[in-house]
Amino acid sequence: EPPAEKFEYQAEVSRLMDLIVHSLYSNKEVFLRELISNASDALDKLRYLSVTEPGLLKDAVDLDIRIQADKDNGIITITDSGIGMTRQELVDCLGTIAQSGTAKFLKALKDSKEAGADNNLIGQFGVGFYSAFLVSDKVIVSSKSPKSDKQYVWEGEANASSYSIREETDTEKLLPRGTRLTLYLKRDDKGFAHPERVQKLVKNYSQFVSFPIYTWEEKGFTKEIEVDEDPSEAKKDGEDGKAEKKKKTKTVVEKYWDWELTNETKPIWLRTPKEVTTGEYNEFYKKTFNEYLDPLASSHFTTEGEVEFRSILFVPAVAPSGKDDIINPKTKNIKLYVKRVFISDDFDGELFPRYLSFVKGVVDSNDLPLNVSREILQESRIVRIMRKRLVRKAFDMILGISMSENREDYEKFWENFGKHLKIGCIEDRENHKRIAPLLRFFSSQSEEEMISLDEYVENMKPEQKDIYFIASDNLTSARNTPFLEKLVEKEFEVLFLVEPIDEVAIQNLKSYKEKNFVDISKEDLDLGDKNEEKEKEIKQEFAQTCDWIKKRLGEKVASVQISSRLSTSPCVLVSGKFGWSANMERLMRAQSM
Ligand code: ADP
Ligand code: MG
Repeated sequence: EPPAEKFEYQAEVSRLMDLIVHSLYSNKEVFLRELISNASDALDKLRYLSVTEPGLLKDAVDLDIRIQADKDNGIITITDSGIGMTRQELVDCLGTIAQSGTAKFLKALKDSKEAGADNNLIGQFGVGFYSAFLVSDKVIVSSKSPKSDKQYVWEGEANASSYSIREETDTEKLLPRGTRLTLYLKRDDKGFAHPERVQKLVKNYSQFVSFPIYTWEEKGFTKEIEVDEDPSEAKKDGEDGKAEKKKKTKTVVEKYWDWELTNETKPIWLRTPKEVTTGEYNEFYKKTFNEYLDPLASSHFTTEGEVEFRSILFVPAVAPSGKDDIINPKTKNIKLYVKRVFISDDFDGELFPRYLSFVKGVVDSNDLPLNVSREILQESRIVRIMRKRLVRKAFDMILGISMSENREDYEKFWENFGKHLKIGCIEDRENHKRIAPLLRFFSSQSEEEMISLDEYVENMKPEQKDIYFIASDNLTSARNTPFLEKLVEKEFEVLFLVEPIDEVAIQNLKSYKEKNFVDISKEDLDLGDKNEEKEKEIKQEFAQTCDWIKKRLGEKVASVQISSRLSTSPCVLVSGKFGWSANMERLMRAQSM
């Protein structure tokens, strides 16, 4: 028998193991969710690879997950018929941290300075495979990859700094393909090894796994058996003493063990939207995207016609941390399935423009080929149509939040993703009509609560033609600008554009509901109250004064003019009609430094 070889854990894994083993985390039951999700991932990988390599399925084993709970010995085994792991993969996957969930956990742990935060973080992020050690003293992973003709066994113990790997030699334990985990539960956690307990956890945590999960349970059926009748009874019954009633039937329960299907395998997106509760959507979202907050909104729909697909989209409650999420569209936020087979979540703007890359969801199409490649996706007319529909649905969903009775929902959305929509104004002319009603700004008449462009238009004075704005670097200076004077006097509302991107976004929109956006800091501001006669008169009267001032200022200004736009201030510096606004100049200067 080949000897077992010992390996040291990577330092991060040791740290993680230490944390897990010594954590006071009370919600230990998440271990089952993590291990089932690994089994499901392994089955997904196999199914995906088998599309191009049908030979992988030659063992003809069903794609499923089987869980056995041995309550007498406190042992749980979880077996999947997925892709399995080679010897090297056992080392790479179960001795180092390469994957996202656990890495995220460690990062969050580093970021959080609160004591005891680790306990909550375990639940929020999940610690993947290592969560087995929340409840186990010892874990054995026996795995057979189709890439290798041998099966290998990984064995690790809580509180140890190393693990071992050996070849599986016990022929009874050989698997045709896949992985079997055996958990030897800690004394206090042996209670998990009850079939009913496991079934409850599966129903609770893993209802969205799309492979059947079977649990090994004791069943019984009733059976009629014939028994000899009590002789004294026979006498009583048989009055004439005949021997006919010597036998009698009796009902007994016959016990046996068998597999019981424990989950609903129909993916949630295939169900009728009316029959799915908000709670189910939220759970699905959290499980699928590793989130711990409910989404702000969801939208479940089927499209028909040219291209048919089903989808559920979500708007997250928070923006991902890190500033580069806007520029980086590779968020893995959209999972594409073809005929229920998971294909990819590795997109780069094919299904959503980058400014909408915060939208999460699943898309399942019957019209794409199963072996769809990156190149096919980029070229595909079907994908283009899908993209158009998805974008529209995403906007409907966001509009839904904006119309919600709960104003806070949209405030939250705007705080997280307002900037994304403003980028949309710049990058997606085609959808201006959809983006514009979703924008929010402070204004001269609403400095506390942001208003929509619709609210602005509704609030316009009958004689007012344009939508006025002033760009500035903060609310205070916007409020105090002399440009406002005349407009305040006339009770014309002015939008305060205080984010650097606002002005560019508005310039791209140009107009809303046929009303132009007008920068009140530019020359030639026409408030619709021009008295040409009088202006001409005054201009003539002050022509010499203007010339004199221009001479004094020289190159510092382009021109000096008489204007009717002020009411209390004597003069103001304005930008040329065609040049940059003062705010833009400030931004450009800041950028070139
Ligand atoms: P994650 O699932 O986020 O990648 P885990 O810690 O849960 O992280 O698992 C680590 C890795 O171990 C997985 O990425 C996978 O490659 C491998 N693995 C775990 N369980 C299985 C399994 N049942 N079958 C095949 N590979 C597995
Ligand atoms: Mg995992």
